[in-house]
Amino acid sequence: MIRDLFEDEHDWFRESVREFTRRELIANREEHRRQHSISRSAWLAAGQAGLLGVALPEELGGAGGDFRFNAVMAEELARAGLAYASSFGIHTDVVAPYLLELTDAGQRERWLPRFATGELITAIGMTEPEAGSDLAALRTTAKADGDGWVLNGGKTFITNGAGADLVIVAARTGEGRTAISLFAVEKGSPGFVQGAPLDKVGQPEADTAELFFEDVRLPAEALLGEVGKGFAYMMERLPQERLSAAFANLGHAAASLADTLVYVQERRAFGRPVGTFQNSRFVLAEASTAVDVAFAFADRCLAEHVAGRLDPIDAAKAKWWSAEVQNQVIDACVQLHGGYGYMDEYGVARAWADARVTKIWAGSNEIMKEVIGRSLGLGEPRQR
Ligand SMILES: Cc1cc2nc3c(=O)[nH]c(=O)nc-3n(C[C@H](O)[C@H](O)[C@H](O)COP(=O)(O)OP(=O)(O)OC[C@H]3O[C@@H](n4cnc5c(N)ncnc54)[C@H](O)[C@@H]3O)c2cc1C
Repeated sequence: MIRDLFEDEHDWFRESVREFTRRELIANREEHRRQHSISRSAWLAAGQAGLLGVALPEELGGAGGDFRFNAVMAEELARAGLAYASSFGIHTDVVAPYLLELTDAGQRERWLPRFATGELITAIGMTEPEAGSDLAALRTTAKADGDGWVLNGGKTFITNGAGADLVIVAARTGEGRTAISLFAVEKGSPGFVQGAPLDKVGQPEADTAELFFEDVRLPAEALLGEVGKGFAYMMERLPQERLSAAFANLGHAAASLADTLVYVQERRAFGRPVGTFQNSRFVLAEASTAVDVAFAFADRCLAEHVAGRLDPIDAAKAKWWSAEVQNQVIDACVQLHGGYGYMDEYGVARAWADARVTKIWAGSNEIMKEVIGRSLGLGEPRQR
């Protein structure tokens, strides 16, 4: 099916992302896996290739494009490896709107030009050991102190956490459950410690780390937006993050599907290619249908987002459904590879391990279904 929401410039951009992934990511993947992070040189190359400023206005070093460019990038980076989509996507699709929309001219000038070149790698710290799905339970505090703030607490599972030069941190600034504010915390601030990358089951290329704050003094300019509005700011920006995740999920599944189509035509059993068994045809027909149908919904959501009217419920649907499709499709691809599908040197084995987290992070499938279920009028019974 022709995906008609992209224009020529999106297609050219897709080609340049593909060229970038071949040159900078796939070529250096083993190094990224060993060091549990994407090299700084790859970030700088991404900046040079115009990937990191894709959504920023031109005066801040960006290309001023619409979110279709981000979606193309998420999809193409995920084809090269899901960790690439998640690491760069946190920067371009998740953090960028906070730094663009909740900042004054001085803050933007301080961070965004280097954001676009890859000199300033960013992360966002919401999750804590005791607060994941239940974000409002977070315990990190920021206390007013003179002109500024003093930050105490910690975060976990933070993508780009070990290497980030700037982290947006959600911290409690008042008594109510959602009395949360957002702060931009710069690397090297005294009392701010970035842990080493955590060992994960998949996505070894991604830097996922714990962060620790001990009496970190923040200047007044570290505050993003208004005091106490952090929870609302995060909720408002989740649909874009979920849409970006959907494109990464589906790009990732499509890549495994393409690899498997080649594999089943080469691999022989009982004197014939395994792809000629009816079961293989059916499994691949189902996988191909699932990916195409999910892309159609994601594309529709993307068009809505570009028009400024993406329904958060649709974003939740796109996020959990694409994660489900991705995991089912890649699991089927592993099966069709037989034992080779379980060997780390095969892309499909790596994809299988990489994909599992998409049903958990950025709002688990259960949380997405809660959001959707409540929109159907199915809330909790009122407590007496
Ligand atoms: C690799 C990786 C990268 C990540 N990157 C980031 C990042 O950059 N920044 C960041 O802030 N966070 C990040 N996270 C954190 C991620 O968003 C959380 O792990 C996720 O939100 C789930 O929180 P939790 O791990 O505390 O699980 P929990 O909230 O403890 O959930 C445990 C289980 O209970 C279920 N559950 C919870 N509440 C409900 C409910 N109301 N109804 C039904 N089921 C429920 C969940 O769905 C899940 O199955 C990352 C996580 C991983 C693994």
